[in-house]
Amino acid sequence: MLKQLLQLQKLDLRIEECKRRETEIPKQKRKYEEQRKRLADELEAQQAHYRQVELEQRECESDIEQKQTQLSKYQAQLNTVKKNEEYQALLHEIDNIKKQIAHKEERVLELMMELESSKERLREDRDRIDSELRKLDEQCTEVDAELEEARTERQRLEQEAAKAAEAVDGDLLHRYRRIRANKKSGAAVVPLREEVCSGCHMYVLPQLINEVMAGEIRACNHCGRLLYYRDNYDNETAGATDAAP
Ligand SMILES: [Zn+2]
Repeated sequence: MLKQLLQLQKLDLRIEECKRRETEIPKQKRKYEEQRKRLADELEAQQAHYRQVELEQRECESDIEQKQTQLSKYQAQLNTVKKNEEYQALLHEIDNIKKQIAHKEERVLELMMELESSKERLREDRDRIDSELRKLDEQCTEVDAELEEARTERQRLEQEAAKAAEAVDGDLLHRYRRIRANKKSGAAVVPLREEVCSGCHMYVLPQLINEVMAGEIRACNHCGRLLYYRDNYDNETAGATDAAP
């Protein structure tokens, strides 16, 4: 009587494993997506810095142009002023503006060097990030395929399990389902190992051992899982029915 139930359990445990993969795989995929976002942000931050330096360079250059226009105007005025104080004041302004221009020109040189190294860094980082993103894309495709596989496999096993359940005695099926629901995961029908229940790893009552060896269906007096004696069933049927601890 247990033989059909063991068949069913074998399918149920495989369904359980598929479901576990169906929850684990999306978690892995979310990790990949987070990595992808971090890389994209990193690249974006570097590009923004580059644009910022470029902008400052352009501003400095247009500032220099304006100051040079102003300088030419002052220099032209030198020929027209009559009073000495005005002349001195203009000279002072000219001196001032020349200093400002020199200062800005220095800054432009700094910015040009920074742009140069920043461009080089950006190129290297873009290559590195691009290749990491490609790798992530491949990994995402892989996990998508794994998920699809687990889903298809589970659906196929569920159909098989529904058929297998029809062959199991109604009361026994009910008991089995109740134990499975209580234990949440793992096997509900477990082999006796020597005198120990392989579901809970406790010694079971000697009377139970005799009954189980005689082929009767008995529950472990500790954990309530149904027990069977391995020698009563062929290995193929009994395989994969050891409960997880
Ligand atoms: Zn037990």
